[in-house]
Amino acid sequence: MVDIILKKGKEKAAIQRHPWVFSGALEKVKGKPEDGDVVKVFAFDNEFLGYGYFNSNSRVAVRLLEWDEKQVIDRSWYQNRLKQAIASRKFILTEETNTCRLVFSEADFLPGLIVDKYADFLSLQILSSGIEKVKTDIVEVLRSELNPKGIFDKSDATARGHEGLPIENGLLWGENPPEFLEVKENGIVYNINIAEGQKSGFYCDQRDNRKILASYTKGKKVLDCFSYSGGFSLNSLANGAEAVTSVDSSALAIDTLKQNIDLNKFEAAKVTTIQSDVNKQLRAFKDSGELFDVIVLDPPKYAPSRSALDRAARAYKDLNRLGMLLLKPGGLLATFSCSGAVDIETFKQIIAWAALDAGKEVQIIKQFCQPEDHPVRISFSEGEYLKGLLLRVL
Ligand code: SAH
Repeated sequence: MVDIILKKGKEKAAIQRHPWVFSGALEKVKGKPEDGDVVKVFAFDNEFLGYGYFNSNSRVAVRLLEWDEKQVIDRSWYQNRLKQAIASRKFILTEETNTCRLVFSEADFLPGLIVDKYADFLSLQILSSGIEKVKTDIVEVLRSELNPKGIFDKSDATARGHEGLPIENGLLWGENPPEFLEVKENGIVYNINIAEGQKSGFYCDQRDNRKILASYTKGKKVLDCFSYSGGFSLNSLANGAEAVTSVDSSALAIDTLKQNIDLNKFEAAKVTTIQSDVNKQLRAFKDSGELFDVIVLDPPKYAPSRSALDRAARAYKDLNRLGMLLLKPGGLLATFSCSGAVDIETFKQIIAWAALDAGKEVQIIKQFCQPEDHPVRISFSEGEYLKGLLLRVL
């Protein structure tokens, strides 16, 4: 195993158990590790810091996964980590819910590995060269622990690119999932398309927030923006919403949402689906004077990195300003950001800015976060990405 020595004074983050060692922090690489090899990282004074995956392409030169020198990073180490991650999600999986995230990368000490469960199938994202190297072992452990019908690779192209990995998207083991696979979340059935769908097929990180929001929608007229396959729309219908309008720019999303309305035997007449750009559609509602009781804004990640923060802040502000203008007095706005670079305080500032521009007084009545299957390690705040506010707009 290759030893890596850090520059003097660059050991603090690793001591505090932050899992990223940036390339600029390396003083000496004692040997020639291949990308994805496990290396041993030491401080300048030779104090052991941790084991991690080496990568020569990435800005993050080492992804730490173990801080105990006595451990051996072998197959049984992976088995233990995977078992621990899976066991910690047991309480989420019930009669009512058969989909959740089983492994969440750094938060589960497996940097670059995401495993989502969709009924009897597993969808993997392999985003680091270290995990790529032990892919076969991981697939075998997942098979023996969970006995799935099939394991699918649905890795995100951009993240793999940073690690110098080719794009992969296909079956790793077992049966191919059907084109539309039925999963259940809080008693609501969703058709999901693992191969064609976005991200790993379904946004299970909004599970709790969909349910919370739905509790405010009985008898209400709801506008669900960036609806994807209808998470917020379907939960609102289940809770007795009077009418739901769902907007998404993707034809596949709208098509899946319509299937989901039928699958759950909801009244199709209560639902209007609009395939359109949300900003354009919100402006059209403003021109026509149509107002809503509850509006959900769940846009894609506007700030993929800190450098995109200014532009993203303006986009969030504009979107929220428009949303506020389309509510009846006292209406509710559920607004989200899944950009890790936008923390909750920054998000609140953006919302304050939007309220000022809209000429509205706004109260925060609840704060949303990511659910238990997307834990945040206390030493890795970058893992906290999903945040939201439930606002009463006066
Ligand atoms: N609320 C959803 C998840 C939203 S993901 C749920 O509960 O599952 C973000 C969605 O925004 C995607 O479905 C994507 O197709 C859509 N989208 C991205 N940009 C858009 C735009 N400019 N206008 C409308 N929809 C957009």
